Amino acid sequence: MLERRRTRQVTVGSVAVGGDAPVTVQSMTTTKTADVEGTLAQIYALAANGADIVRCTCNDEAAAEGLAQIVPRSPVPVVADIHFRHELALAAMEAGVHALRLNPGNIRKPAHIKLVAREAKARGLPIRIGVNAGSLDPEMARRHGGATPEALVASAMHELGLFREVGFEDVKISVKASDVRLMIDAYRLLAETTDHPLHLGVTEAGPLPQGLIKSVAGIGTLLAEGIGDTIRFSLTADPVEEAKAGRTLLEVLGLRERKGLDLVACPSCGRAEVDVIRVAAEAQAALEARNIPLQVAVMGCVVNGPGEAREADLGIAAGRGKGHLFVRGRVVRVVPEDEMVTALVEEAERVLAEGADARIAAADADAEAIAAATRDELLQIQGNDANRAAERISRIRRIAQP
Ligand code: SF4
Repeated sequence: MLERRRTRQVTVGSVAVGGDAPVTVQSMTTTKTADVEGTLAQIYALAANGADIVRCTCNDEAAAEGLAQIVPRSPVPVVADIHFRHELALAAMEAGVHALRLNPGNIRKPAHIKLVAREAKARGLPIRIGVNAGSLDPEMARRHGGATPEALVASAMHELGLFREVGFEDVKISVKASDVRLMIDAYRLLAETTDHPLHLGVTEAGPLPQGLIKSVAGIGTLLAEGIGDTIRFSLTADPVEEAKAGRTLLEVLGLRERKGLDLVACPSCGRAEVDVIRVAAEAQAALEARNIPLQVAVMGCVVNGPGEAREADLGIAAGRGKGHLFVRGRVVRVVPEDEMVTALVEEAERVLAEGADARIAAADADAEAIAAATRDELLQIQGNDANRAAERISRIRRIAQP
C-alpha cells in the first residue's frame, strides 16, 4: 500500500474527511426523504453497518422539509444530494444538513453556483463537487471529445474556480463513471491536479456480484495507490450492502480497524472432510449474531487447515468425523463433527473473554496429538493425491479403451 496522498481536510458534521483522517464510508438512502421515519430507520441501519456519513436526496420541497426532521435525529452526518435546482441546496442548508453534493452537470448557471457557495461558506458547510460521466456538462464533453478523464476533471475544476471566486474552498470532489477504467484514470488525473479530498465511487455499478466487483476494482485500485479520502459503493441492492462492502474494503486494505467478524474459510478441495460452504455459512451466522470481532477460520481439513489459517485468532478444521479447534494455529480441543459450529462459537467467546494466550495455555493435553494422528491418517489415505487422480486416470483409461 502506498502512502496516502496528502489532502486538505474538510469536516462533515463531526466527521473529518481528508488530511490525516481515516478513510470514511458513505452510503445513500433509497427511501423518499419526505418519509422521515422510513429514512431514519435506513440511516440507523446504514450507520450500524459501517456508514460514517449518509446522503439523502433533496429533490423537492417535501424532501427538504423531511431533512429538517431527519438531521437532528440522525446518528451520522447527513449530506443533501442536489441536482438541477440550486434553490433546493439553499433549502437543504436551511434544514440543517451537514454538507451538500452538487452536480456541476445539471446546475450550470455561475450565479446559482456562487449563491450556493456563498451560503455554504456563511454556514461553514462543505460541498462535494460531484461530477458524473453520465451527466457531464455538455460543454465540457464537447471541448474534450466526450466524457474523457480530462473532461470530468475540467468540469470539477471549473466548478471549483467558481467557488474560489466567492472565497469558498471547503470542497471534496468526485469524478465518478460506471466505466471502471475511465473512473480510475479520471481520479488519477484529479489527484495530480488538486489537493482537495476525494470521494471515490464507481457510479451505477449495478447489482451483485458485478456491482461489487466493479466497485472493488475501481475504488480498491485507487486506495491501494494512496488516492481517496471517502468512498461509496453504488450498488443496485439494499444500501446496507453498500455500507458493509465499503467498510469491509477499508478493513481488508488496513485503512480501518476491524469492527466485526472476519470469517476466513478455505475454498475446499478434494481433501475436504466436511461441507465447508455449509459449515462456514452456519459459523458466520452464529458469530455475527453474537457480534464477535475476531478473525475466525473454517477449514475443510486438518491436514492443512490449522497451518494455513495460523494468522486467524481461532478456527476449526475437519478430519475423520471430528472438528479440530485451533487458536492461532495451535489445536486446543477436538469435538465431534456435528458440534463444530457450537464449539467454535463457544471458543470464540472464551478467546474474547480470556485472550488467545490463556486459551492456548488451557488446551486439552491430547488435542495436538489427536490432530497429528488424524493428519497422518488422512495423509496415508489420501497421500499427496487428494483428488485421487491416479485412480481416476486408470478408470478413464479403461473407459476410453477402444
Ligand atoms: S484446508 Fe484442506 S480442504 Fe481446505 S482447501 Fe486446504 S487442503 Fe483443501
